[in-house]
Amino acid sequence: MGKPKIGISSCLLGQPVRYDGGHRKDQHLLEKLGSLVLWQPVCPETECGLPTPREPMRLEQGVGLLRIKGIDSGTDHTDMLSAWTEARISGLEDLCGFIFKARSPSCAPGGADIFDNDGVLISTGPGLFARAFMKRFPDVPVIDEESLHEPDELGNFIARARNLMS
Ligand code: SF4
Repeated sequence: MGKPKIGISSCLLGQPVRYDGGHRKDQHLLEKLGSLVLWQPVCPETECGLPTPREPMRLEQGVGLLRIKGIDSGTDHTDMLSAWTEARISGLEDLCGFIFKARSPSCAPGGADIFDNDGVLISTGPGLFARAFMKRFPDVPVIDEESLHEPDELGNFIARARNLMS
């Protein structure tokens, strides 16, 4: 059997793409899965054209669509990120799973903070790119790196990914 191709938030692989120029390399994850899968790194924020370093962002839910904005400037990056996602997502249809960065306003598969327009925390949910990915590929298993550290989760995830190959 070949190896399943797994999408992964690029910062988890150690790529220095985070807003502060750093990364969040997950050594445990890479050691456990590195020989079992083929990685497809994706960083929505840098691949859509934002610089590194950049202003940190947050999700805001006002009237209408969920937006992603710079925390201090209020600069709205939603249209740029959405346009990139629409163009990029078709190229990800061969993925058998996706490991997303927890709590990211772009990447989290759930649990990202959502604020109102005054900066008051009102709920949590998926980041914008993860939201689009899950909508487009509802049968593809997704998880964040923190959940993969839970007992059994890693084995369950890789088994579901392999099932998609057959
Ligand atoms: S957008 Fe995703 S991949 Fe890029 S730095 Fe943020 S969490 Fe990591």
